[in-house]
Amino acid sequence: MGVQNSIASKQMSIKHELDTLFKPKSIAIIGASSKELSIGNVITKNLIHFNYTGKIYPINPKEPEIRGIKAYPSIFDVPDEIDLAHVIIPSKFVPQIIEDCGKKGIKSVIINSAGFSEMGDEGVALQNAFLENAKKYGVRIFGPNCQGIINCDPDYNAYCDFTFTFPKPGTISIVALSGGVGAFIMQSLFDLDIGMRMYASNGNACDISISDVVEYYGQDTGTKAIILYTEGFHNPKEFLETAKIVAKKKPILAMKSGRTEAGAKAAASHTGSLAGVDISTELIFEKTGVLSFTNEEEMCQAAMAFSTQPIPKGNRVGIITNTGGPAVIATDELVSAGLEIPPLSEKAVNILKNTLLPEATIGNPIDVVATGGGAHFRSALDVLMDEENIDSVFINFVTAPFTDTDEVARNIVEVSKQKKKPIICNFMTNLSFERYQHTAKIMRDGGVPCYSFPTTAAKALGALYKYHKIQSREIGEAMVFDDVEKSTVFNILSNSEKDKFLSSENVFKILEAYKIAVANWAIADSYEKAEQISSKIGYPVVVKAESPEIVHKSDKGGVVINIKCKDELRTAIQNINKNFSGTNLKYLVQKFMPGGKELIIGVSAGSNAGHLIMFGMGGIYVEVLKDVVFKLSPVTQTEAQEMLSTIKSAKLLDGVRGQLGIDKKSVVEIIQRISQLVTDFPQIKEMDLNPVMAFSDKAVAVDARIKL
Ligand code: ADP
Ligand code: MG
Repeated sequence: MGVQNSIASKQMSIKHELDTLFKPKSIAIIGASSKELSIGNVITKNLIHFNYTGKIYPINPKEPEIRGIKAYPSIFDVPDEIDLAHVIIPSKFVPQIIEDCGKKGIKSVIINSAGFSEMGDEGVALQNAFLENAKKYGVRIFGPNCQGIINCDPDYNAYCDFTFTFPKPGTISIVALSGGVGAFIMQSLFDLDIGMRMYASNGNACDISISDVVEYYGQDTGTKAIILYTEGFHNPKEFLETAKIVAKKKPILAMKSGRTEAGAKAAASHTGSLAGVDISTELIFEKTGVLSFTNEEEMCQAAMAFSTQPIPKGNRVGIITNTGGPAVIATDELVSAGLEIPPLSEKAVNILKNTLLPEATIGNPIDVVATGGGAHFRSALDVLMDEENIDSVFINFVTAPFTDTDEVARNIVEVSKQKKKPIICNFMTNLSFERYQHTAKIMRDGGVPCYSFPTTAAKALGALYKYHKIQSREIGEAMVFDDVEKSTVFNILSNSEKDKFLSSENVFKILEAYKIAVANWAIADSYEKAEQISSKIGYPVVVKAESPEIVHKSDKGGVVINIKCKDELRTAIQNINKNFSGTNLKYLVQKFMPGGKELIIGVSAGSNAGHLIMFGMGGIYVEVLKDVVFKLSPVTQTEAQEMLSTIKSAKLLDGVRGQLGIDKKSVVEIIQRISQLVTDFPQIKEMDLNPVMAFSDKAVAVDARIKL
């Protein structure tokens, strides 16, 4: 309840605080200028050009007016209240100006100027100085080193930005760390004739974060879908918390760049930001249900579908086509996106037999043939809208010169307007003919998303379906096992050195404290001791060289398996002594557990959003096979199950060619317990259980490592 309240109150305050940024009733432009090619001039011009509904106050000590609007020497000379200020003056004056803004009662400031944290120590100091002043007066800062915001809501028409695309009002809101990327995304939506709701590009993001903006968009009823571009998050946990809530309400289409070493370097130099080749952002997207894209064009194309179409209620697509081949291409793509193309009901077939041309193919796809006209498309559409086992409609529409293509378009639009099921259209035409331009315009004005290529269209439908899955997916909460002995682990870790591997003895004790099954074991410091242990554990046993210096034991002959008797034990220990002479050597004696599947469960410390938990095929070939998947801790039961089912060799776990499958429940539990261990003890930097031996009735760890 307490948590709920604090989330609710944070949401209230975001709405309240960012309203002055996105819905300003008056704007001061500190650094406005009549010099044509200056930022201060362009921002003034853009506000006027976009028909900003509020008051504009250019601030300039020397000029009486700018672009025909009365200018003031300072904000203190402005007789009215000011909601928002642009700051476009050299960085060294910014701390003082923010203090002035505070005194004037301005609530939000967009700092367009550069020269802060992206510029090294001196810039960092300036940034800290103005932030301190902002805190003192409760001023929220957007930027610095940024473009600004745009609100296309006709009540505001606030174009607080210096770029050049003037979108029409719509339902897609954009937030982009980089102004350059934000601007081209905005332009490509414009080129696709998609309306925009709000836009924000916050550069260094020193105060108002991407998460704050996403939260604000989440609460904005006019925003149907969000596009997000970033190179990383200053505070990944904050984004995780926000995205978890917002993504359930509306789709977030996101792209994170810096996926390669070189890309990450470019990101760091360009925004004074963070980044690094991290996969944790991808995992945050996955955990919270953000739709992740690796291609900016695909993301914009998908946005077109989200801005106009409802979300399908399932994965079953009905295809209508008036040309064969493109439907085949589309089918391939649809199927790989997890969609199905089920047969039509008898009722549907009977209707279509009467309404379509005799040459038509009645099935799924429904081929109305190239000579099919508006009435034929309409009948096919009506049938699919009524079909119970169809969730969405995919149309291949080629503008055959011998048909009334406008009539076809009008029928598609009419059915689309019913908003019963999403319609996506692969529209194939030649737009150099006026006739087809007209058809295209009917489709566009009618809000039918049209794509020139069948694959692009199918991918867009795939994205709608993926969002359906996100909305209906429940990953649940991470289980908390209350049988764990936290204090045992606490004591061991308190006495362990940082950046060093713990001894096997301590590692196994930690696993036992968290009730993770391990092969029966004990440490011996002599042959005699090893013999005693072996008879207690029962032959066959395994002996492993145990020393803090040894990491990959088997590489150097430090693992002897299947030791069946005293004599073999003696030879094994002699050999180990030979291979590791001079080291501070002990022996780990362990029960031999043959015949299991070797799995790996690993951990590495990620961002403040959680540890990365890894699962996959283990053993000594793990680096070669690389068949592993990752999740972010804390891992829920559903997520752990997903891990088992999404590795490439998932089928091996079920058993193939007469082999028994493994006890998945035990493995799922180990993953959850490991996740709990590192959540309880975040100082664990690296950990791996390799292998975990999985059998049909149990799973036990036989080798493990932990580093702090
Ligand atoms: P390292 O990873 O340091 O080389 P491991 O303890 O993982 O050493 O042992 C290497 C391999 O030996 C394992 O992948 C597994 O195939 C086998 N092995 C180790 N311990 C056992 C055991 N108790 N039972 C069966 N096989 C084992
Ligand atoms: Mg190992």
